[in-house]
Amino acid sequence: MATAASPTTTISGLAAVRAEIVRACRDAGREVAEVELVAVSKTFPAEAIEPVIAAGQRVFGENRVQEAKTKWPPLLEKYSGIALHLIGPLQSNKAKEAVALFDAIHSVDRRSLCEALAKEISKQGRQPLLFAEINTGAEPQKAGVLPQDADAFLTACRDSYGLTMSGLMCIPPLDQAPGPHFALTAKIAQRNGLKLLSMGMSADFGVAISLGATHVRIGSAIFGGRT
Ligand SMILES: *Cc1c(COP(=O)(O)O)cnc(C)c1O
Repeated sequence: MATAASPTTTISGLAAVRAEIVRACRDAGREVAEVELVAVSKTFPAEAIEPVIAAGQRVFGENRVQEAKTKWPPLLEKYSGIALHLIGPLQSNKAKEAVALFDAIHSVDRRSLCEALAKEISKQGRQPLLFAEINTGAEPQKAGVLPQDADAFLTACRDSYGLTMSGLMCIPPLDQAPGPHFALTAKIAQRNGLKLLSMGMSADFGVAISLGATHVRIGSAIFGGRT
């Protein structure tokens, strides 16, 4: 796990991110309440997370089921009102654990996973918010549905698997301006009647908010660098 920054650093990082969200919303003529901050705590230990919880943050993002499963249950017992979001790739054989632990899954990207999720959602009677991940840059190493396949995939989510999809997620290519990727994701969401947009990370969440992000996933700007 990454080394924890001092609580003071983490708290000022959180405050700076919140202030930046307020400013980005004001610039975009949006309500601050429309944008959920998902504090990405992946690789950081519980000691690094607790000061952030104490500062009032309640929504956290993790990218691995296994890590979340060992780290979060004691924290969930100790603090109320916490929501966990899975932002990393999900293997179908972990769908059961993911549905049990997470309140949102941002990485729905293939039919086999839809099938596994649908089964667990009905079995467990739990309904996490579901986002389809779009590979807007068509990067071969990256997960996600290709933009040209997105409409058919979303139709299949609904009609073939009975899933209620709430939104889309994207991770723009590192070496490109993120704006066009966010705009494309927003356009696909709009034509499919999806309201939520998970886009924007530490480096680009202001741009994402200007293009309609409802969930910004922010790690290093709060917790510091990951090693
Ligand atoms: C790690 C991660 C983030 C957070 O990235 P930062 O640049 O540290 O803010 C956001 N989204 C996903 C999918 C991630 O894996």
